[in-house]
Amino acid sequence: MGSLEQENRRLRGQLDDLLRRARENESKLNRVQSLELKLIGAPGLAEIVRLLSRDLPKISRLDHVGILLEDITGEVGLALSEAGILPSPGHVELNPPGRLPLRSYVGPYDARVHAQRCGGRDDLASLAIIPLRRGEQPLGALVLGSRNPQRYLAGLDTYFLERLAAITAVCIENALNLRRLRELGLTDALTGLRNRRYFDEQLPLECARAQRDGGVLACLFVDIDHFKAINDELGHPAGDRVIREVAQRIASHVRPFDMLARYGGEEFVVLLTRLEFGAVLEVAERIRAAVAARPVVLDEGLEQPVTVSLGAAQCAVVPGVADDPAFGRALLEAADQALLRAKQEGRNRVVIGQSLTSPSRHRVREQQKGYDRFGF
Ligand code: GH3
Ligand code: MG
Ligand code: MG
Repeated sequence: MGSLEQENRRLRGQLDDLLRRARENESKLNRVQSLELKLIGAPGLAEIVRLLSRDLPKISRLDHVGILLEDITGEVGLALSEAGILPSPGHVELNPPGRLPLRSYVGPYDARVHAQRCGGRDDLASLAIIPLRRGEQPLGALVLGSRNPQRYLAGLDTYFLERLAAITAVCIENALNLRRLRELGLTDALTGLRNRRYFDEQLPLECARAQRDGGVLACLFVDIDHFKAINDELGHPAGDRVIREVAQRIASHVRPFDMLARYGGEEFVVLLTRLEFGAVLEVAERIRAAVAARPVVLDEGLEQPVTVSLGAAQCAVVPGVADDPAFGRALLEAADQALLRAKQEGRNRVVIGQSLTSPSRHRVREQQKGYDRFGF
């Protein structure tokens, strides 16, 4: 009898243990699934990286989560830096040294072999490296480490890890595709510059940033002179060639953080920030001279002289000016008016409009004097 009772107790103990482990596994599975759902709903690459590096270590009680990503074109780095994430060894690493792992590794952590993949850590005891792939194409890898040597034992069933990696890979690919699509919608196909949609979208944001940075904010309109005649006499492809060349010459005379866009057919716009007062005249004059300096060489070796007219408006950023939502548009309109004057005064020249102050102050003047909306 006694031994039956003992046996019963032993079996009951085993059952309790199994139930407890099953409950633990279920709860862990729920947490991992909820992470997977968050990954699927992530709006961009940065959020995916944040979820993996912030949530995964907590959910899976890991001491190390590293993300290795291939970035041949630089777009992954760009997508991350736009969201304020800078790659760093052991966290997110782009184009890590050595080849990306093609097969999973689960087993003991050997610092001599693995430290390079784990930001040089020497306190880990077991490791799982799971490749991120789309089809046969390697995208990167997840590197999961624990100080517990039992955590990732060689021969461990990697189903859940492979599943997480597969979902992560699809989500990364999707986020990059969405970004590419968005970039395409904001880029001008003929010149490769930003398009009007991008400029209009960014204008209030850039103005708000200028408000923080201070200095002078300026807007510059550039329009090719008598462009219609070039089109009519030499044909549209030649016209396109001229537009592309003028775009390049403008781009080479503005700074990387100035916002340059093709605003319309043969019209470009630049938003210049962090300027010294009056510097916009120098920039505009440099662009004018660069276009007029030498003719555009067309396909058949034909040389076509080209000139541009430029209109600019500027404003010293004082508190409460540039973050007025109407400010960017006022600056743009003022530059456009100045361009009109440059055309009227004979083309191939720069006209700087009267400097803009607060739009709200101008609105009062407008009512008093019947001026244009912002005093021009
Ligand atoms: P102005 O000196 O006053 O600026 O005269 P303009 O002839 O340059 O000005 P207008 O606005 O009359 O002409 C612009 C022309 O640009 C009209 C349009 O057919 C042409 N255009 C617009 N987009 C494109 C394009 O993508 N390619 C080419 N080749 N031509 C374009
Ligand atoms: Mg024109
Ligand atoms: Mg025009």
